[in-house]
Amino acid sequence: MKYAILNNGIIMPLLGFGVYGLAEGPQCTDTVRYAIEAGYRSIDTASGYDNEASVGQAIRESGVPRDDIFLTTKLGNGDQRSGNVQEAFDISLSRLGLDYVDLYIIHWPCAGYYEKAWLALERIYKSGKARAVGVSNFHPHHIEDIKKAWTITPALNQVEMHPFLTQKPLITFCRENNIAPQAWSPLGGNRPLQERIFANEAIKRLAEKYGKSPAQIVLRWNIELGVITIPKSANPSRIKENFDIFDFELTAEEVADIDALNRDERGGPDPDNFNF
Ligand code: NAD
Repeated sequence: MKYAILNNGIIMPLLGFGVYGLAEGPQCTDTVRYAIEAGYRSIDTASGYDNEASVGQAIRESGVPRDDIFLTTKLGNGDQRSGNVQEAFDISLSRLGLDYVDLYIIHWPCAGYYEKAWLALERIYKSGKARAVGVSNFHPHHIEDIKKAWTITPALNQVEMHPFLTQKPLITFCRENNIAPQAWSPLGGNRPLQERIFANEAIKRLAEKYGKSPAQIVLRWNIELGVITIPKSANPSRIKENFDIFDFELTAEEVADIDALNRDERGGPDPDNFNF
């Protein structure tokens, strides 16, 4: 495993496990437990995924000490808009059945609300119940807005990123501000976009060269860039496959070849224009 050091000194695995779409109950619990057995030590959930209870149960049942797991959850947009941030956080903790989270982030920048929400996250951080706080889906202008009043710099910004949306300007902006970039939908998320990424000649050529799958090449590209990545799968063999990316390296030129695939193509909504 390789690690990122966040701006408050805490350590986070560069490769984690996303759980969006895993149904609360045995599907989520069994899958997360399997991922932990396979070696993952970072799990990314959200109050909006409706599976926090199962994620917490899987962590408890895994037999791995709580301190060895990095758990992220997110403030939902409804709670951001209603302003009940502390209450929402307490509910997440109680669903998870945990005393603290490693990272708590604002899921989306809801216009008119995220500045206030950020200050509430700072209070949660100061209470010691979240080891780090950050944001998700923030463009530079959203970060500039919270910067006007922040006393704490967000530890991380979780954004859509894959070979067809390389997010170079945003990543540069995050690095300049000491904010760690994290990729969601690192494999392209939805099927048609992912299929086109995996069928791309540059990705296929590297997969052949290293005897790896297209998914492994894409995830290794994240690692080479030092971008924290959280692929999701419900399939045991893919869960293992996505973890098996630490026995090869891409050259700087190969990383640049993947960077060059960018076409600013989003699978998800633009954070300046979403309706949920
Ligand atoms: P992803 O890019 O991780 O792709 C997931 C899909 O790819 C899986 O459903 C599976 O069908 C397929 N897949 C996984 N491994 C594969 C492999 N080795 N070979 C072939 N196919 C494979 O997309 P995602 O789930 O959208 O994103 C990952 C995580 O990011 C989510 O689970 C969630 O935790 C997080 N996320 C956050 C936000 C946000 O707004 N902050 C939005 C979306 C996702």
